[in-house]
Amino acid sequence: MEVTSYAGFKFVRGNEEPYKRKDGTWTALAVWHANCRKCGEAFTVKTPASAKQYTDSKSFGSRHCDKHKLQRQDMSAFKTALAAFKTDSAQA
Ligand SMILES: [Zn+2]
Repeated sequence: MEVTSYAGFKFVRGNEEPYKRKDGTWTALAVWHANCRKCGEAFTVKTPASAKQYTDSKSFGSRHCDKHKLQRQDMSAFKTALAAFKTDSAQA
């Protein structure tokens, strides 16, 4: 299966993988493969397994590999990772 975003950017669906939600229940995520618009490097995004078109997930807004992500996205990913780290530490 393929999904093409509004800008003509293509994602090819790969495997599904299990994902544990914050409440401890499990769901499935679909892994989508794309190539960085800037350097062509392969990268992946993950969406709920039910996603079938680009409007189903904000992840389809990605255009770039980790190296070329927009700065704003870098900061948001960093903050998410930091929050997860703090949560893990608090539970340990
Ligand atoms: Zn890149």
